[in-house]
Amino acid sequence: MGRTSGYRPKLAVKEEVDALRAQLAECNTSQWQRACALMENITTLMGHRGGPMGAKINPRACRVCGYFGHTKQFCPVAKRQEDAYFDEILNEEALYRKRVLEKALNVVREPYDVTKSAQAKTFDELGLPYTTDPDLGALISFEKAAHRGAWTYDSEGCLVRNTN
Ligand SMILES: [Zn+2]
Repeated sequence: MGRTSGYRPKLAVKEEVDALRAQLAECNTSQWQRACALMENITTLMGHRGGPMGAKINPRACRVCGYFGHTKQFCPVAKRQEDAYFDEILNEEALYRKRVLEKALNVVREPYDVTKSAQAKTFDELGLPYTTDPDLGALISFEKAAHRGAWTYDSEGCLVRNTN
């Protein structure tokens, strides 16, 4: 059957391996020798000791934080950096929205001018004199009155250009 380190209850092996892994996770690249020794113990316990040439399996340190026992993908430091990065993006987004909203609120709108309404423009185009009402807007008026648009009636009741 080849390499076995004899019968060991699986649960006991697992507990031992977990403990060694916890120690490995405490090592950074400056403790490489200790990390190698721990790795060797782990691989031995798991029955993977050495290759055909008895080569050791070297531990690899995380490329982000330099600690053993995890990869960049599971690195708590990388996770914090990523979270900070996304927080920054969200903050920028919120700031941008706030600026856009402030800009929209500060737009100075011209006061409503009834003579510029679509209704008044239509009356002007059709040659219809109109008066204005504060509630109803532009109202066609066939009487002699203070017309507001482009047309009015002269003293003889003829349609003429409004010069007022
Ligand atoms: Zn890491």
